[in-house]
Amino acid sequence: MIADISNRRSHRRQSALSCYDAVVISPEMAKHPGDVKLIAEVVAIGDELTSGQRVDTNSAWLSQQLGSVGIPVGFHTTVSDDLTGLGDAFRIALGRANVVICTGGLGPTADDLTRQALGDATGRPLQLDEDSLKHIRGLFESRGKEMPERNQVQAMFPEGSRVVANPHGTAPGIDLSVSTDNHASRIFCLPGVPAEMREMWDGSVCPELKKAGLANEVIIHHRIKCFGIGESDMERRLPDLIERGREPSVGITVHKATITLRITAKGKDEAECRQAMQPTIAMIHDCLGNLVYGEEDDEVQDAVIRELAAKNQSVTTVEWGTPGVLARWLREADHDRQCYSGGLVLSQSQLDIGKLEDSDPMLERMIANAAEKAREQNPATYGLAVGPIDMERTRDPNAKLWLGMASPEKSTAVAVRFAGHPDIVMERSAKQALNLLRLRLVENS
Ligand code: ATP
Ligand code: MG
Repeated sequence: MIADISNRRSHRRQSALSCYDAVVISPEMAKHPGDVKLIAEVVAIGDELTSGQRVDTNSAWLSQQLGSVGIPVGFHTTVSDDLTGLGDAFRIALGRANVVICTGGLGPTADDLTRQALGDATGRPLQLDEDSLKHIRGLFESRGKEMPERNQVQAMFPEGSRVVANPHGTAPGIDLSVSTDNHASRIFCLPGVPAEMREMWDGSVCPELKKAGLANEVIIHHRIKCFGIGESDMERRLPDLIERGREPSVGITVHKATITLRITAKGKDEAECRQAMQPTIAMIHDCLGNLVYGEEDDEVQDAVIRELAAKNQSVTTVEWGTPGVLARWLREADHDRQCYSGGLVLSQSQLDIGKLEDSDPMLERMIANAAEKAREQNPATYGLAVGPIDMERTRDPNAKLWLGMASPEKSTAVAVRFAGHPDIVMERSAKQALNLLRLRLVENS
């Protein structure tokens, strides 16, 4: 149902109309919605969001859902509980996007203004929906209460709307189609409560978008995880893959020294997407070899435990510089596979390095010995040691960190560069130690 509002008169209605007229996205949109490139906007409503008291998780979740059914999100708008601001936000969103999903402001209180603002912006007077009123009354009765008069407002909808059922809350959602000669939009207003919003997306909104032919693609992502190289070196090794416009596309992000390559494919179903990704995945593995340690949510410690488990081997740790980080990660990744035999966490003062320079061979021997001693103390195939870290030296390009590794054959230590942002150096150091062992495990297999 697409209603035409082009002949409405009042000043407010006229201003709504002029905004739609001003932004022409596609004249074909209303006639052939399936053939036209759509754009979506997510609108999050609430003073608690614009004041920074609450993080807007709804928009992130909705954008992921829209993306996964092939509808790209072009805009996120966050707006406070203000009638004029909300009206503007709706006019702008309806003028530039074809699918608008908004959350919040559907409650019964004076600051819940979504219905009113949408009615004003589209020139649709609010009308009572008897079935919704019955549903809301019934919810109160089932809790042994009488419905407060002010909740009646939750059963009011802009003329021409469809009601979006909210099985577990009092605020039903709104589904309204609006079009001019040049542009068609469909707006869904959902409650702000994340659990209700998600249930309504899954149960009503997404099926409706599919039925209308607006959500007719599947988008699948696959993440490949790498460690041991910088972001720009990575790009240099994969020159043609990171290009914009490539299909499937490959994006690159870095988090605490871990590089994630995200491959995205579009298709009619998941199988088609997975097939389209295969050559790209194979090319990445070819170009990067052992820099790739895993996929999706894998961390370096997961790869280490996996390799150890496959060989029926184990590791123990001793840490100065990364107090307990290695121990915690390995214990969590181990999941009772007995590949982590525990470790020692020592304070800096428990390694008497006196005035030794970073590159002193004494230090090298001490850290290699520590890895070996750890193996004796907590019997394991390998011992890993992370030497002391001086957090005062995170800006010093010459500062070194010693990492030790002991195996049944020998114990060694290597010095790695240590400078970096104080927030990441510790985790990066722990990953570097784990990566030493991972490389040893994969290269010896
Ligand atoms: P109701 O008043 O019936 O609960 P509502 O539609 O009026 O529903 P709000 O009052 O705006 O929703 O928000 C309800 C709850 O959901 C609040 O705790 C709010 O902080 C939270 N919430 C609202 N919007 C978001 C959002 N975008 N992301 C995360 N939480 C949100
Ligand atoms: Mg609110």
